[in-house]
Amino acid sequence: RAKSHGGSQFQFYEYGMEAELVRRVELERDLRKAIDKGELVLHYQPQINLKTGKLMGAEALVRWNHPERGFMSPEEFIPLAEESGLIIPLGEWVLNQSCQQIKLWINKGLDLDFVAVNLSGHQMKQAYLLELIKNYLDSHQLDAKHIQLEMTESVMATESESCLNLLNDLKEMGISVAIDDFGTGYSSSLSYLTKFPVDTLKIDHSFITNLPDDKDSATVTSGIIALAHKLGMQVIAEGVESEVQRDFLLQEQCDWIQGYLTSRPPRLKSLKPGSILIIQ
Ligand code: C2E
Ligand code: MG
Ligand code: MG
Ligand code: MG
Repeated sequence: RAKSHGGSQFQFYEYGMEAELVRRVELERDLRKAIDKGELVLHYQPQINLKTGKLMGAEALVRWNHPERGFMSPEEFIPLAEESGLIIPLGEWVLNQSCQQIKLWINKGLDLDFVAVNLSGHQMKQAYLLELIKNYLDSHQLDAKHIQLEMTESVMATESESCLNLLNDLKEMGISVAIDDFGTGYSSSLSYLTKFPVDTLKIDHSFITNLPDDKDSATVTSGIIALAHKLGMQVIAEGVESEVQRDFLLQEQCDWIQGYLTSRPPRLKSLKPGSILIIQ
């Protein structure tokens, strides 16, 4: 660490930390205004049925077209949004926008089951989340089955009473739920899988990347697929980039795939702020 080094390095390290702090404060300030200024964009990535090739759903992935920094990945600003509480208005914008978009697609006759929306743990703690979703569905005259919510494994694995209540309420409403990034979180405790009403497991892309040659990845992937099916859930593989990966997943009876193989995100620079991307 820098502190244990000589004086000049310490200074340098401190300067770096200060610059990082300034960057974060500025970004937070900008993010606060980004929603109202229409700088956020959703990119929808298709989810495809492996056996039939049919489109099932599309995951809404948020991007930020920053006035000076250009397009930013959610990996950069979602953590900031979570720490600052801005994830709440941001998440509301994503939900509303997703409802509006799928309504448009349905009206145009596109055969699409749902839009999958990523939900942060902070949003799940909001007492009015259910009411909010109901309002968006009502205002867009949308059936609940057209929305799927993705929650990460680390949030689910806390096995909290409030999480169970929320999931039960969502199920009653007819909203499906997927566990995102499955296999990377708290896999030492899988008991929540049998307690919580969940529709879909999403196998994290880190297991898909090295398929089919890496034996460990192959074993974990096959295991997750079998586990999900035994528990009556569907499985989506995330980050599928190649045909050999797809072939392996098909052979292992995986239900759906999502990834660059079927849809590469457009180059970020070519997007216009506020624009909505239509699935090709
Ligand atoms: P995620 O929900 O697991 O989303 C999948 C990520 O994998 C996306 O990154 C997607 O662009 C990327 N991806 C898709 N296909 C491939 C592929 O074939 N290869 C590789 N290497 N990557 C692929 P993205 O869009 O950068 O999003 C990163 C994460 O940010 C998401 O992970 C999600 O956790 C979070 N996020 C995105 N949008 C939202 C949002 O609206 N709300 C919240 N709370 N989080 C969001
Ligand atoms: Mg996701
Ligand atoms: Mg994921
Ligand atoms: Mg992820």
